[in-house]
Amino acid sequence: MITTEPARGSLLAIEPMDARQISRLLQLARRMNPDRPRPLLRGKRVLLLFYEPSTRTRSSFEIAAKSLGAMTTLVLSSGSSIEKGESLLDTGYTLRAVGADVIVIRHPQAGAPLLMASHLDIPVINAGDGMHEHPTQALLDAYTILRHKKTLKGLRIAIIGDIYHSRVARSWMHLLSKFQAQITLCGPPEFLPDVASEFVSGVHITRTIEDAIRAADVVMVLRVQKERLAGVKISLQDYISRYQLTLARLKLARRDALLMHPGPIIRGLELTWEVADCPQSAIVEEVKNGVPLRMAVLAAALGKAN
Ligand code: ASP
Repeated sequence: MITTEPARGSLLAIEPMDARQISRLLQLARRMNPDRPRPLLRGKRVLLLFYEPSTRTRSSFEIAAKSLGAMTTLVLSSGSSIEKGESLLDTGYTLRAVGADVIVIRHPQAGAPLLMASHLDIPVINAGDGMHEHPTQALLDAYTILRHKKTLKGLRIAIIGDIYHSRVARSWMHLLSKFQAQITLCGPPEFLPDVASEFVSGVHITRTIEDAIRAADVVMVLRVQKERLAGVKISLQDYISRYQLTLARLKLARRDALLMHPGPIIRGLELTWEVADCPQSAIVEEVKNGVPLRMAVLAAALGKAN
């Protein structure tokens, strides 16, 4: 079946969503609890199609689906017909033909989930596409922040690290700016090109980590995305000395500041061992919150949001 509009119920990116749609998903997530399973999706089949490595996203989607009574099937690019050269769309048609009700896809190319959603009649959920977006990560992080802070409006949020190669950073910026947070981006030019300020309006850019962190309510740190660095020359030693989040640097933030990171964390690179485990760290909580949030996303995708 060929359609031009993405299939109803798809979640492809934060950019086209409005604040009300986002708030509705966050509210729904508050009513979800994997320890109190609800059979909202009994009999539904959730296909997890992963062309790139994943630990948190994949396992939490699977647990979320099962907590709602759905069946899950995992297809990885290695070991499947994708290795034999099957196209993305043919894989999608195949998964639809075996009875998928929803496809959760992670793919190295930006736009792959949109392409699939435009050709299938079942919802497609983006679990990360290239350097484009990772919408459920941004949603679970908004959910996490709102468990500690009353509102996103006016919050001072510092985003530090490899911003250019990060789909999470893009989804964060779209989401946080829809709720009028004050965003400061910080990183070296290789990870935050000078031209960024021309494209990202209303966002402050600094090359000095201390400036970014001072008085922040939330400090978000990103991994150096080594798998996307082809052709980028950067000294990791220099990076560590100028941009690594240390306890001394974190002290510049507000006393009640939250430290966040989408994972996987590389201790000793973008943050120190002590920072990863400090009392302000919400890193484990983010992972935990991924389950109710993804329960909400799956339920909404299949029209069971009530
Ligand atoms: N897990 C996130 C992603 O898939 C962040 C990262 O890999 O650094 O984009």
